[in-house]
Amino acid sequence: MTTRKPAASETGDPLLLTPGPLTTSASVKQAMVHDWGSRDQGFIAINKMVLEKIVELAGGQGTHVTVPVQGSGTFAVEAMITSFVPRTGKLLVLINGAYGQRAKKIAEIAGRAVVSHETPEDTPPDLARIEKMLADDKAITHVFAVHCETTSGILNPISEIAAIVKKQGRRLLVDSMSAFGAIEIDARAIHYDALAASSNKCLEGVPGLGFVVCRTTALAECKGNATTLVLDLFDQAEGFAKTGQYRFTPPIHVIVALGKAIEEHAAEGGVKGRGKRYRDNAKVLIDGMRAMGFRTLLPNELQAPIIVTFHMPTDPKFVFQRFYDGLKDRGYVIYPGKLTVADSFRMGCIGRLYPEHMKGALAAVREVLDELRVSNGGPALAAE
Ligand SMILES: *Cc1c(COP(=O)(O)O)cnc(C)c1O
Repeated sequence: MTTRKPAASETGDPLLLTPGPLTTSASVKQAMVHDWGSRDQGFIAINKMVLEKIVELAGGQGTHVTVPVQGSGTFAVEAMITSFVPRTGKLLVLINGAYGQRAKKIAEIAGRAVVSHETPEDTPPDLARIEKMLADDKAITHVFAVHCETTSGILNPISEIAAIVKKQGRRLLVDSMSAFGAIEIDARAIHYDALAASSNKCLEGVPGLGFVVCRTTALAECKGNATTLVLDLFDQAEGFAKTGQYRFTPPIHVIVALGKAIEEHAAEGGVKGRGKRYRDNAKVLIDGMRAMGFRTLLPNELQAPIIVTFHMPTDPKFVFQRFYDGLKDRGYVIYPGKLTVADSFRMGCIGRLYPEHMKGALAAVREVLDELRVSNGGPALAAE
């Protein structure tokens, strides 16, 4: 065991190298120490600012509207699919990880017709195949794509997908949950009907609010599509237009914290500034882990600077639970893999983390490997 003080966030908590919830700033957490009524004018103004800033980050001023959904990111994805795909519609889901799988399940439970195009978790979708599926099956009305598939950390080619969907005259729904706010996706360049994200990923707020950036003209066609009351984006948007208020109790503290987090996002230089810090984090992490012999699942050109999947070392002395616990004792929380293609673990680059924190995590990895008497994070060397 190390005798050094474990690494910690500004509020003394372990650092979360995870895909969310994430380490947040002390000031974001501090924003939550008040109570507001849901009809409080101060709160209503903050909520309005939050929704408008999100549209600006999406490049959708004048053409798009943000419709928030109480709940985690999946609530927003489910709201997006079930509000936009009519009951008579048909959804093509592009799958290369757990979040694509989840979208397919959502559509099936909601009784929508679904087809999928599935590739392995380390492989982007086949663009020619998507084009052919759309050309051959005129019943497909919508396509669902994940921007950064957090299962592996792969960056999917969203602008190429959007171009094909548009060319084929269909509608695109994007899950940009783990990319929005750090990886540019500009509504003026990438044509979509709706994009879902949440408070607690690259915007660095706390969990509890999902949101869907909707093309206003597309949302206007969604009346009566929804198959649930609470996840009806058309109805939720109408509520805002009429009263400026949520239909049901909003997670007020979460929204106020998100307002603070968006202020800090702007101060960092917006999407460009946030993206640069995450790219710096990812580079320090990947270079340092590779130097210790660890192998990444993805080649650099497919890797998003969000979360990195590493193959499990093959040395039999490497025991993942002990590795995990050793890092946790030193103040770093990592994440098990949930890949089907390889035995793996993941380390995130997002949240209130800087390159110094990644260097600290690397030093902790080295110490724990030494403790386990594992010399190398890669394939096992010849037995001693
Ligand atoms: C985090 C995430 C979600 C939503 O997950 P929740 O646990 O519901 O917040 C959806 N899609 C992707 C790609 C994600 O990374």
